[in-house]
Amino acid sequence: MKVLVINAGSSSIKYQLFEMPAATVLARGMVERIGSEQSGLSYHQAGQKGSRDVQAGDHQQAMGVILQALTDAQIGALHDIQEIAAVGHRVVHGGEEFTDSVKIDPDVLDSIERFADLAPLHNPPNLTGIRAAQQALPEAVQVACFDTAFHASIPKAAYLYGLPYEIYEQFRVRRYGFHGTSHRYVARRAAALLERDPAASNLITCHLGNGCSITAVKEGKSIDTSMGLTPLEGVVMGTRCGDLDPAIVFYLTDKGYSIEQLNEMCNKKSGLLGISGASNDMRNLVDLAEGGHERAKLAIDIFCYRIKKYIGTYTAVLGSVDAVVFTGGIGENSPLIREQVCSNLPQIGIEIDSKRNAGRSGEYLISAERSRVRVYVIATDEEAAIAADTYQFAR
Ligand code: ADP
Repeated sequence: MKVLVINAGSSSIKYQLFEMPAATVLARGMVERIGSEQSGLSYHQAGQKGSRDVQAGDHQQAMGVILQALTDAQIGALHDIQEIAAVGHRVVHGGEEFTDSVKIDPDVLDSIERFADLAPLHNPPNLTGIRAAQQALPEAVQVACFDTAFHASIPKAAYLYGLPYEIYEQFRVRRYGFHGTSHRYVARRAAALLERDPAASNLITCHLGNGCSITAVKEGKSIDTSMGLTPLEGVVMGTRCGDLDPAIVFYLTDKGYSIEQLNEMCNKKSGLLGISGASNDMRNLVDLAEGGHERAKLAIDIFCYRIKKYIGTYTAVLGSVDAVVFTGGIGENSPLIREQVCSNLPQIGIEIDSKRNAGRSGEYLISAERSRVRVYVIATDEEAAIAADTYQFAR
């Protein structure tokens, strides 16, 4: 069965075509700069890699470009788009309603629209992607997989903020958490590497990409996570500030900043970029720090310090930890960050072996033999997880 996975952002749609249940990737790629004059398709299909200029004035047209590429005479992986039996969509916010992936019907679409209030940058393009796919492939089963769903198991004591209870009752202000598909995927893989039942493994999973979040997984379930009502809370990220004293917002409002300016500052101008004044990209920062750039080094130090604090906190929350997992662009590729995060943690049973940590790709152990807690690098694969969920509905 052919399953197409769609990840629609505000100006891009990423796609991957799977043959299920083997999860063989038949094609993958992305349409970028949707809505501009310079839309482009990049693809890896039928053993060929390439890119080309395309016309994609909106998401509907971008979906047309993708389906055309999938059936292209030269690079196509399909003879006919009707071979696609199901489409799995990444949806960022599922509110309190969705605790698992769901088959999309009009009620589900209404709910995703309602939660756009909570994820204004993500849910609207996700919804546009779903509508475009429904129009192009009306016969295919359409499934929504939510970034928030894995965190539905977080208990109330961990998801409520210390605000008046009516704020939760009235506005559903609470911790939701994100990157759930990634945390769930690497948690299952870690259990497999530990040769344990997922329901018997306690883990701390660190998803470190442009956005970063840390999750405490107890007996296979998320019981706490660093991101909150929105993806702004938690560790320091590429351009987001992470945890903050909320009074800073009142203080800066008093100093003349508008709410819009503060929103922009906290989401787009803070984090690694704001601290270093140089870049939000960890590769650049590592190079700059090695060349003596003081604030690049400071940004890296703050980034690692915050993650270390979460590992300590979640160790206390979990009681016992079987493994810590690093994933995401930074987690998978930066031995330096992993080493710095895990330095001086033997008291909580975490010791890195620098040879093992030196870096390969895929899934591997980086903790020392004597380390009580195992530390793994596991390449995340959110698309494969979405394809697996989608296949379950379409089967
Ligand atoms: P997204 O969250 O957008 O999916 P990724 O998971 O691809 O992003 O992560 C992007 C981050 O990974 C960037 O900060 C990038 O610099 C970092 N990264 C990728 N490769 C390396 C590397 N070799 N060393 C350090 N950081 C890396």
